[in-house]
Amino acid sequence: MSEGHIDHEQVSVISCRVSSIRHLITDNGQLELAYFASLNLNYMQAWKDYQEKNKQRFLDELLGLLSIPSVSARTENKADMLTCAEAVKESLLKAGADKAEVIPTVGHPIVYGEKIVDPKLPTVLVYGHYDVQPADPLELWHSGPFEPVIRDGKIYARGSADDKGQFYMHVKALEILVSTNSMTTNIKFCIEGEEEVGSPNLAKFVSANKEKLRSDVILISDTAMLGMDTPSIDIGVRGLSYIEVEVTGANRDLHSGVYGGAVANPITILAQMIASCHDANNHITIPGFYDDVVESTPEERNKMAQAPYDEDAYKKDLGVSALWGEKGYSTHERTGIRPTLELNGIWGGYTGEGSKTVLPSKAFAKISARLVPNQSSTKITAKLIAYFKSIAPAGVTINAVEHHGGEPYMTPIDSIAYKAAAAAVKDAFGKEPIPVRGGGSIPICSLFESELGVKIVFMGFGLDSDALHSPNEKYDLVNFYKGIETIPYFHRHFAEMSK
Ligand SMILES: [Zn+2]
Repeated sequence: MSEGHIDHEQVSVISCRVSSIRHLITDNGQLELAYFASLNLNYMQAWKDYQEKNKQRFLDELLGLLSIPSVSARTENKADMLTCAEAVKESLLKAGADKAEVIPTVGHPIVYGEKIVDPKLPTVLVYGHYDVQPADPLELWHSGPFEPVIRDGKIYARGSADDKGQFYMHVKALEILVSTNSMTTNIKFCIEGEEEVGSPNLAKFVSANKEKLRSDVILISDTAMLGMDTPSIDIGVRGLSYIEVEVTGANRDLHSGVYGGAVANPITILAQMIASCHDANNHITIPGFYDDVVESTPEERNKMAQAPYDEDAYKKDLGVSALWGEKGYSTHERTGIRPTLELNGIWGGYTGEGSKTVLPSKAFAKISARLVPNQSSTKITAKLIAYFKSIAPAGVTINAVEHHGGEPYMTPIDSIAYKAAAAAVKDAFGKEPIPVRGGGSIPICSLFESELGVKIVFMGFGLDSDALHSPNEKYDLVNFYKGIETIPYFHRHFAEMSK
């Protein structure tokens, strides 16, 4: 496919294998093309019919999964994590997997499953995660985070979009393909339970199980689309550096009247240090932060500018009157091609009810940077830590530690996998998807590529408004069902194009 002189449009319309198109166009012309096209149309109808008949059950099953509080960050949910892993395993077996297993790690277990129809066929490895972010603050939820409800055509629950609702589409797609006897690929699943805490044990699992995970492409649904009317495919995810800073002043909390004004207040110092991380144009001031950033070409920026964007709607959705960001870049650029630095949490001193006049001994902050291709998470983390240590004034001490990080990842749009995904989205949505850079991070991507030697394709069906990691996370029913419809198309195109 890398020769690339077959028009992409042609491939997706005809839904036919590329090598055949070349032969058939020169040899037999329209006749066989029509045959392939009708063959695929039959499958498409069979898949749609199957989904239509079973759609309520598909949803009920997802709601069951969403009711398990699989919060990986909380030790109190350790048993729930296992319950959830077992439920995922069972769902794979019910969907038609030949085998599925819950594989323990020193942290939360990984679920592996596979359906191998023919070793000669291409193999697709689906990666997803069954763990979720903590649900706090609970009081901001309109319904229980683990009591999934349907309101206005949306599934409200923690994990509905990130990522249970999304990986479960692949489980149901497997069921559709198996039940209609129309598998054209082997499908493997690696559904982990530690994505939201940085996948600390997945790397070891991947390097120890290269044969088990051997595949021709890794398919991930853990990202969003621009909109249902403007389907898009993420071609990159940002990397992540994450640190926690602790500022210590006096050796104990002090009376703010007796000592205030004479002793450095760690909260004031920390606030000054944090404020110094951006300049007046909201550029990041940490020395060397932008050193390895590869500037996007004007062509790439022009392409991004064509993606539909309604700034008023964007602001309205967020309840803000103005946007904030690096000068000289659009919103899409700020969240896609530019690295950023954000405060994720800050605390210190007295935060309980009423007042307490204290000059605290300590202040803390959690700080993370999103990185773009060619930046290194390890290097940036070291720069962040060095920066905070270097600017600390006399009178306080700084302790800065690293939390999880991950490298940025880009997928080439001339790969068979990308083209198959684009063709599948076009089949389902009737429109060519726009390639976009996602703002989030999936730290395991670069590791997958280096360990398994295959490319990743992101076929996300969420929306930016899904409130991932926030109260009232939701996933639209229509996206859930549309995703299930799209995935079998991907397998078929990928098999055809791989021949
Ligand atoms: Zn996720």
